[in-house]
Amino acid sequence: MKTYFQTNNLAECCGCSACATVCPKNCIEFKINAEGFKYPVKDMDKCIDCGLCEKVCSFSDEYTCNNTQHPKAYAAYDSQNRVGSSSGGLFYTLAKHIIEDKHGWVYGASFEDKLQLKHIGVNTIKDLQKLRGSKYLQSDIGDTFRRIKQHISNGEYVLFVGTPCLVAGLKAYLKYKQSEYLLCADLICHGVPSQYVFDEHVKYLENKHQATLTSYQFRNNARWGVCEIVDFANPKIHKVLPSYDLSLYLYSFMRSYTYRESCYHCKFTKLQRQGDLTLADWWGVRLFFPLMDYRKGVSLLLVNNATGAKAWEQIKDRCVFEESNIDDASKYNWNLNHVSKRPVERDTIYQRIREEGYEKTMKDINPNSHSTLRTWIIRIRELEIVDDIIYYMRRLMVKMK
Ligand SMILES: Cc1cc2nc3c(=O)[nH]c(=O)nc-3n(C[C@H](O)[C@H](O)[C@H](O)COP(=O)(O)OP(=O)(O)OC[C@H]3O[C@@H](n4cnc5c(N)ncnc54)[C@H](O)[C@@H]3O)c2cc1C
Ligand code: SF4
Ligand code: SF4
Ligand code: SF4
Repeated sequence: MKTYFQTNNLAECCGCSACATVCPKNCIEFKINAEGFKYPVKDMDKCIDCGLCEKVCSFSDEYTCNNTQHPKAYAAYDSQNRVGSSSGGLFYTLAKHIIEDKHGWVYGASFEDKLQLKHIGVNTIKDLQKLRGSKYLQSDIGDTFRRIKQHISNGEYVLFVGTPCLVAGLKAYLKYKQSEYLLCADLICHGVPSQYVFDEHVKYLENKHQATLTSYQFRNNARWGVCEIVDFANPKIHKVLPSYDLSLYLYSFMRSYTYRESCYHCKFTKLQRQGDLTLADWWGVRLFFPLMDYRKGVSLLLVNNATGAKAWEQIKDRCVFEESNIDDASKYNWNLNHVSKRPVERDTIYQRIREEGYEKTMKDINPNSHSTLRTWIIRIRELEIVDDIIYYMRRLMVKMK
C-alpha cells in the first residue's frame, strides 16, 4: 500500500484529515503549501509507526465502498425553500428534517470569520442558514470527524454534507460501519481551489470597490445563472454578476485552472458514489423536463444505498420531483463520472499570482476582461427576459405536440 506519506505526491492527498484524526499520538499536523493547500506532516519523534494513518487514507488502494453503481436518479426541488440554495434546495429540506424531526446535527461548509471556509455543525434552523449554498473552494474540515463520531455514539442523528473525498474520509475513519444515526450526502464535484486564491479575490474586490466586503455568495436562486452576489460596507454597495464568465475567480474555477492537484486524479468522480445520497445540479433539465419550473434551480438527487432510500422516503412529500435515470442525469453533468482535465494554465497560475499579482494574472487569462463588446453580449444573453421567453416558448411547444 502506497500513500502520500511515502510518495509525497500532491495528487495523492485530498486533505480530508482522516489520518490526523485517527492518529493515537496526535502527531500529524497540516502545513499550508505555497498554493494555499494543506498537507499532512508527521512528527517522527512522536510517531509509533502504528500504520493507522495510512490504513485510513481513502486515496490508498485499500479504500472500499459498497454503494450501488446504478443509483436511482430524480429531478427534484423544494418549492417552499429553493431560494437561498444553489440548485433545487434539497440540502435544506434534508437538513430541516434532521434538525426538526430528529433533533440532530447538520455538518456542512460555512464562511466563518474573514470569509474562511470551514466545516461546522449546527442544530438550529437559524444557524443552518450559514451552511446553505455552494462555496467553490476547499473547506477546512478541522475536528469534524471526531465530533461526528461522538454524536453518533451519544445516539444523536447527524447529516454530513461535503465533497465526495470528505465523505470517503469520514466513512473510512468510522471504519465503514453504517450507523442508523448517520446520513451522508456527497456533491458532484469539479474540484476545489485553495482558500489563498479566494482570499486574493476578496482583496481584489475590496480594492476595486474601495469598501469592505461583508458577504459573498457564489450563486443563489433568486435566478438561475446569477453569480458572485456581494455586499460591501463603508460605503454600502451590492453587486451581482449575470454570468460566471464575468468573474475573475469563477472564470478560472469553471475552467479548472486553480484546483488542488488531487482533483485532477480524483478517485470519486464515478457513478458509484460515496454518499448515501448525492446532491447536484440537474444540468439540461429544460430538455428532459420542459414542464418543470427550472428557472430557480432543479437538483439532481441520486439515491445510492438503503440509508439514502430511507431518507428520501421521509422527505419526498415536501418536494416536486420526477423519476429519471442515470443516463439522462449524466448526459450534461461531466463530473458525475469524469475527472476534471488538468489544463496547462494550472502549471503556472499560482506562481504567477504570487509573482505578478492576482488581478494581472486573472485578467490575462480571461478574454472577457479585455473586450467591452464581449461583456455586453454576455450581459444581454443572460437577461432574465430572454430566459423567460425561452421557458414559455418551450412550454407552448410541448403543449402543442
Ligand atoms: C466545490 C463544489 C463543486 C461542485 N461541482 C458540481 C458539479 O460539477 N456538478 C454539479 O451538478 N454540482 C456541483 N456541485 C454541487 C452544487 O453546486 C450544489 O451544491 C448542489 O446541487 C446542492 O444544492 P442544494 O440547492 O441542494 O443545496 P445548497 O443549499 O446549495 O447546499 C450545498 C451544501 O454543500 C455544502 N458545501 C458547500 N460548499 C462546500 C465545499 N466547498 N465543500 C464541501 N461542502 C460544501 C454546504 O455545506 C451545503 O451542505 C459542486 C459543489 C461544490 C461545493
Ligand atoms: S487521509 Fe486524507 S489528509 Fe491524510 S493523507 Fe490521506 S487523503 Fe491526505
Ligand atoms: S503511524 Fe500511527 S502514530 Fe505514526 S503518524 Fe501514523 S497514526 Fe500517528
Ligand atoms: S474533485 Fe475529488 S479530490 Fe477534488 S475536492 Fe472534489 S471529491 Fe475531493
